[in-house]
Amino acid sequence: MSAHRIYNFSAGPAVLPVPVLEEAQRDLLALPGVGMSVMEISHRSKPFDEIIHTAEANLRRLGSVPDAYKVLFLQGGASMQFSSVPLNLLTAGATGDYILTGDWSKKALKEAKKVGATAVAASTEDGGFKRIPAQSELTLTPGAAYVHMTSNNTIFGTEYAYVPETGDVPLVNDASSDIFSRPIDVSKFGLIYAGAQKNLGPSGVTLVIVREDLLARSADSLPSMLNYKTMAGAGSLYNTPPVFGIYILGLVLKWMLAQGGLEAIATVNDRKAKTLYDELDRTEFWRPHAEPGSRSAMNVTFRLPTEELEKQFVKEATAAGFDGLKGHRSVGGLRVSIYNAFPEAGVNALVEFMREFERRNG
Ligand SMILES: *Cc1c(COP(=O)(O)O)cnc(C)c1O
Repeated sequence: MSAHRIYNFSAGPAVLPVPVLEEAQRDLLALPGVGMSVMEISHRSKPFDEIIHTAEANLRRLGSVPDAYKVLFLQGGASMQFSSVPLNLLTAGATGDYILTGDWSKKALKEAKKVGATAVAASTEDGGFKRIPAQSELTLTPGAAYVHMTSNNTIFGTEYAYVPETGDVPLVNDASSDIFSRPIDVSKFGLIYAGAQKNLGPSGVTLVIVREDLLARSADSLPSMLNYKTMAGAGSLYNTPPVFGIYILGLVLKWMLAQGGLEAIATVNDRKAKTLYDELDRTEFWRPHAEPGSRSAMNVTFRLPTEELEKQFVKEATAAGFDGLKGHRSVGGLRVSIYNAFPEAGVNALVEFMREFERRNG
């Protein structure tokens, strides 16, 4: 008998697939054939070796990750990567280019500035981060160390509909909130990183996919824990990794493969997003934040005619079993986060609720 679960629209940590939670619950006291829980065994034991290698193999299969890329399971969240990226990749005398599309990219730039030379390749802050800049708006530094982008802007609800062309300069992507929500051509990136807690698993594990040749830039003088070359050389087992997080991540990847992979997941995600945006475009009552063409399929942000109505909406929605809808303070209004694991039925139910709310208050 499973517990009653409400519709969880949290931006992160976020909803996980029910079959994943059920399997973890079933095997929590003892992994089959092991007799101990995953949290109680050595990270160098055979059972854990199997868990981390299966997770990596499934991740490579799911994302069609080329052999020339290393897959790392690290700690410290995406925020640690804001420092690790420039520490490893921002070579002396070179510039790190940053495309600013929201709070997270600004934070990434802030950390890079502490390490070396940076430049802003484009920013849409003037317009309130309502859109993603076009390729033609990017001012790229010739010979830059890398170009940093944020593929999905969790707070503002915008998402790239294209992959920037950066020539020979490695493209670094903070994909924390849209990783594996649709097919991704890893070969277009030098490095991709993501905190797991939105689309991949629980907080505490951070995924880094890095092109092998870039590891040559990691200086031996770096703190070992922040050194990609050290972590890659140790197969993410330089020290005790986040074993439980990697275990759950492995179950989520298995679930994603069972859904039919990224194409199939993207089809459902697109349908969920379209249902919501169609409702937002149906009447002037809703005021979507992101511009068409830049709209996120993961975080749908919008305002209502007044703050009072927004408060009322959140209150009534919460009472009706829709949790986590309050928007981030820098946008206000509402934010509907519909990551991979969020059920389509929940989106349909929310839209029903929205129609009824608009009918009563519009
Ligand atoms: C949530 C988020 C972060 C921060 O992740 P932490 O793991 O909490 O450090 C960074 N970037 C994006 C795009 C995010 O959505």
